Amino acid sequence: MERDIQAAVGDCPKCGAHEVACRYNHFERDELVIDAWEHRCPNCGYRATTAFRSDDPEPASNPTICPYCQRSPRA
Ligand SMILES: [Zn+2]
Ligand SMILES: [Zn+2]
Repeated sequence: MERDIQAAVGDCPKCGAHEVACRYNHFERDELVIDAWEHRCPNCGYRATTAFRSDDPEPASNPTICPYCQRSPRA
C-alpha cells in the first residue's frame, strides 16, 4: 500500500482554516485497484473522501488526480 499525505492544500469549506490535509491511498489486490482520496481538516474535523475503483462500471479517467485539489501524488 502506498500512502501520500500533503498538509495544508487548501481552505476548509467548513471552518475556513488553511489546514486541510490531502491524503492519497493506493490499494491493489488481484485485479482490483483502488485509488482513495481524503481531505481532512485537523481544525474542525471536516472530512471528504472519494475512492476510485478499477471495477467501477465507469472507471475514472484520472484516478491519481485528487478530485478536490487536483494534485497528483508525489513521485
Ligand atoms: Zn475545518
Ligand atoms: Zn487533494
